[in-house]
Amino acid sequence: MPNRFCAICGKILVETDPHFGMCLECYLKEHPLFELPDQYSLNICIDCGSYSKKDDWVEPLENEIFSIIEQAVQQLLLKPYSKKNNIDFSISFNEESFVFSSKELLNSIEIAIQGVLKEKSNITHEQTIKLNLNHILCKNCSNLRGGTYFLSIVQLRVKDEKQFDLIIKIMEEINEYVERIFERDHRHYISKIEDQKYGVDLYLSTNELMNYLIKFLKTNYYFLLKRSKKLVGRDSQKGRNLYRLKSLIKFLPVSNNDVILIENQNYVVENITKNKVILRSENNTKLIKDYSYFFNEKIIKNNP
Ligand SMILES: [Zn+2]
Ligand SMILES: [Zn+2]
Repeated sequence: MPNRFCAICGKILVETDPHFGMCLECYLKEHPLFELPDQYSLNICIDCGSYSKKDDWVEPLENEIFSIIEQAVQQLLLKPYSKKNNIDFSISFNEESFVFSSKELLNSIEIAIQGVLKEKSNITHEQTIKLNLNHILCKNCSNLRGGTYFLSIVQLRVKDEKQFDLIIKIMEEINEYVERIFERDHRHYISKIEDQKYGVDLYLSTNELMNYLIKFLKTNYYFLLKRSKKLVGRDSQKGRNLYRLKSLIKFLPVSNNDVILIENQNYVVENITKNKVILRSENNTKLIKDYSYFFNEKIIKNNP
């Protein structure tokens, strides 16, 4: 076979060269495996470590600055290439390039990105990028710090002062529960708690949290639930109406085994179902009442 020569540098071609008219070096110069900008800026949230290019914040799997940077580079820069899954990437940090702010936050850093073609490991490419890091608060964390972000309201109410202990107990349980949910997903939290005459109002960051809370309370308590929805504006970006959702929760003022005076008769609360209270008198008369009865009527307890 006659010798072939590289069309660019004139070197004799060998069989392993990737292109019939070019040597490996020239081929790689002409067709780099990937092309990235020399400089790139990204935002990192001071509080939670989420990263973003613009407004779409992504929560990192691991909240440590170098692993955040690595995840951000993978997501924001390398994604178009890694989608094809034909290049093995590795990222290394040039420690001498680190520039810190006066608050000891990493402001800029040089990273080297190496790529190896999976099916042909002699085809590689390396590029150095200067990353500029803006340390700001993500949308969620700035709302959290401001404490003004809420979409839905849960109103917990009791009938009178005698039940205030119940509200205190329930609030402890709710706080614990919401903390657990927040750990799993930072979108869910109570942004404000307001004392009311017969209970508290909870301002919640999401509607989902409201539904979680109602479900959670249902496993342990009996209450009347009234949901309402009010149009408060419009999200022009997403082209949809914004509603404020309200759930009024009125805890039943009686519990099992309470003795209640109804029409001069003593009744024992025998059972409470999802929406009814079953009572039995001393002479064995059964009485079934809706929850609403206990809110509308004056209840006289004759507990032993
Ligand atoms: Zn060449
Ligand atoms: Zn954040």
